[in-house]
Amino acid sequence: MSGELTEKILAGDMRTVARLIRDIDDHMPQAREILKELYPHTGKAYVIGITGSPGVGKSTLVDRMIQHLRGRGKTVGVLAVDPTSPFSGGAILGDRIRMQRHSTDEGVFIRSLATRGHFGGLTPSTRGAIAVLDAMGKDYVLVETVGVGQDEVEIVRAAHTTLIVLIPGMGDDIQAIKAGILEVGDVFVINKADREGADKTRQELMMMIEMGKERKSKGGWTPTIYKTEAVRNEGVAELMAGIEAHRDFLFKKDPAILTQFEMDRARMELLDLIKQDVIRTIMDYLEKTGQWEQYLEGLVHKKTDPYSISEMIVDRYLNQCKT
Ligand code: GDP
Repeated sequence: MSGELTEKILAGDMRTVARLIRDIDDHMPQAREILKELYPHTGKAYVIGITGSPGVGKSTLVDRMIQHLRGRGKTVGVLAVDPTSPFSGGAILGDRIRMQRHSTDEGVFIRSLATRGHFGGLTPSTRGAIAVLDAMGKDYVLVETVGVGQDEVEIVRAAHTTLIVLIPGMGDDIQAIKAGILEVGDVFVINKADREGADKTRQELMMMIEMGKERKSKGGWTPTIYKTEAVRNEGVAELMAGIEAHRDFLFKKDPAILTQFEMDRARMELLDLIKQDVIRTIMDYLEKTGQWEQYLEGLVHKKTDPYSISEMIVDRYLNQCKT
């Protein structure tokens, strides 16, 4: 059964792909079986992560990037990831409407992912969905995530090139979150460059990049900065050239850089999945047997402590690893 679906995905069948991505988003066990079969067929697409606060113009920019890549004859998959709580849900709808004009183009496939799942799991889901778009044969996969929190940073780590989108006047915000985003950003985009303060934000960013240089781990790449005006398609061609420059750096400069990148990516992928699987397995069991509730009550009444419980769980269920 899964073999047949795998064949359809590899052949680029849009309906099968759409269904599989929905199943991944819903954490359906059967989706995993297909992902296992698809895995050897992945690794061909170039993955670009686009992250930034709501309203900075990510969707508008992604729309322009699609347009640009299509102009070069490239096929494009887009994942819009919205890890916001159900209370603020709905943002993604706007995103998809903005990119709607590409929806009749066979060379473009746009989908959104939204559910965190019971125990995190948005990052493994996103990786799975990227793998599907990769296996279906898309040349580029664009992954747009809302926000610059820890989850979003984790998600964009699956990308070859990560864009951090800012707008003029966001210098203070960058300062506040710089550790996380400077680590992860390969290319910084100051969108809405028509607004006042774009050059000042650029200066501030340059200073921060300079200061953080020695901490950069990604093979010595110094992040670059581009100014765009996505609504008017200004600066987008330059930005795309900047992304290609990063791609050349990864793939052409020194084979050791690519090897390191791929090892890092494999490590994160496996680690995320193990974390998710181990926690889910243990938690399902503890909840089903009513132990979870008892542990929590024990903590609330100070009859025990979280350290002892966690050690006991590890002792009981993961004992083999301790020898
Ligand atoms: P997202 O939430 O980051 O995806 O942002 P959107 O792409 O939805 O854009 C938010 C708003 O900013 C929309 O009204 C866009 O038309 C507008 N916008 C996008 N790019 C630019 C730009 O370069 N200049 C200006 N002035 N507005 C822009």
